[in-house]
Amino acid sequence: MASGAKGTGGNQRIPRCIICGRTEKEGALLIGRSSECICTDCVENIHSYIHKNQPSLDNNKFVSQVKQDFKLLSPKEIHKYLDQYVIGQEEAKKFLSVAVYNHYKRILNQKEDASGLELEKSNVLMVGPTGTGKTLLARSIAKMLHLPFAIVDATVLTEAGYVGEDVESILTRLLQDADYDVAKAEMGIVFIDEIDKIARKSDNPSITRDVSGEGVQQAMLKILEGNIVNVPPQGGRKHPEQQMIAVNTNNILFICGGAFEGIDKKIAQRLNTKVVGYGVQEKTKGVDKKDLLRYIAPQDLRSYGLIPELIGRLPVVTFLHPLDRAALMDILTQPKNALMKQYVKIFKLDGIDLKVDQSVLDLIVDTAIKYNLGARGLRSICEAIMVDAMYEAPSSGKKSFKVTLEYAQEKLSSFTGGLLLN
Ligand code: ADP
Repeated sequence: MASGAKGTGGNQRIPRCIICGRTEKEGALLIGRSSECICTDCVENIHSYIHKNQPSLDNNKFVSQVKQDFKLLSPKEIHKYLDQYVIGQEEAKKFLSVAVYNHYKRILNQKEDASGLELEKSNVLMVGPTGTGKTLLARSIAKMLHLPFAIVDATVLTEAGYVGEDVESILTRLLQDADYDVAKAEMGIVFIDEIDKIARKSDNPSITRDVSGEGVQQAMLKILEGNIVNVPPQGGRKHPEQQMIAVNTNNILFICGGAFEGIDKKIAQRLNTKVVGYGVQEKTKGVDKKDLLRYIAPQDLRSYGLIPELIGRLPVVTFLHPLDRAALMDILTQPKNALMKQYVKIFKLDGIDLKVDQSVLDLIVDTAIKYNLGARGLRSICEAIMVDAMYEAPSSGKKSFKVTLEYAQEKLSSFTGGLLLN
């Protein structure tokens, strides 16, 4: 920050940006100690100019890294990688593995095909109850890849001109992850969470505008289908003066996720209406009523409130299963960074050997099921049980600590006033 005016007598020189000439009074945030400073806006503009106009020096390295990845990863290997972090959800893993693998294939063969045959991208839509692993799948994929990756939330998006964020801000995150290297960002993957929240609110056009629903869906089309989009480098609408960066979304893979709460009723309705008449028994016999999402079809998404054009741009639709007791138990103990493994490590860092009885694990899972807390609830239940131990342990001098059923029950009931155990 500028340290103030320097100079002598009446010839005082006011610090100003040597590029745009603005002073602090004129709103510039100046960097530098002398009267010749540079303002933060100009620094940002130079930064984005360089990235826009000069391919980054390590771009070749990046492409060879991507090629290397591609050699290493077949869809089966991607699936196997995901198995380390995500329990079950085989169908979603399979669809995602293929989508990511094809994404690699497409970006590495963009210019090489002389036949003019273009490999089109297949954006993916994952439908599944909340807390069943959609974001986890996306995060795990991000961890595995050397491609730019961004996770964004559709709930903050609104139609241009309304409070909220423009859809273009989706790409801002990707640019940021690619260090503003446009060429890299254009090969990236974006996970758009809570896509169901931009479903049309009702079939009747109402007097109040649906600014976070259909309007956003319309705006999203141009991003999903492959277009040159002007992206605000800092996102949001707070910097109207910022220079836009043109990003081609042709090769960006979009993975969308949403819980689509209540869509099971629409699926059930469709399945029933289809099977009215002869043969009803036979046709509905095999239907798994507890897991209706597995029968999801584009028409269900449409009746839920997604516009057909958007559905058309998400050609790969897959689903996640609700988590049963066995899955919750596995989630607690099996994945590479399973909750229980994390607690063991936390204690180990203090030189304490942590043991947790199987009956405690049963209690944790049963409590999560009883209160319909899903996988997300496992953590808060564990915390309620473990917090006292984690508080005492570092100063206790103990070398081991065992969590018994009685201990866990007592902690759970005192933590929640008995709520979770009654
Ligand atoms: P959502 O489907 O709502 O995006 P998340 O992926 O955010 O759900 O899951 C919430 C948390 O629950 C994860 O961070 C993870 O700890 C746990 N979890 C959910 N599903 C699974 C799963 N299939 N395998 C392992 N952990 C899971």
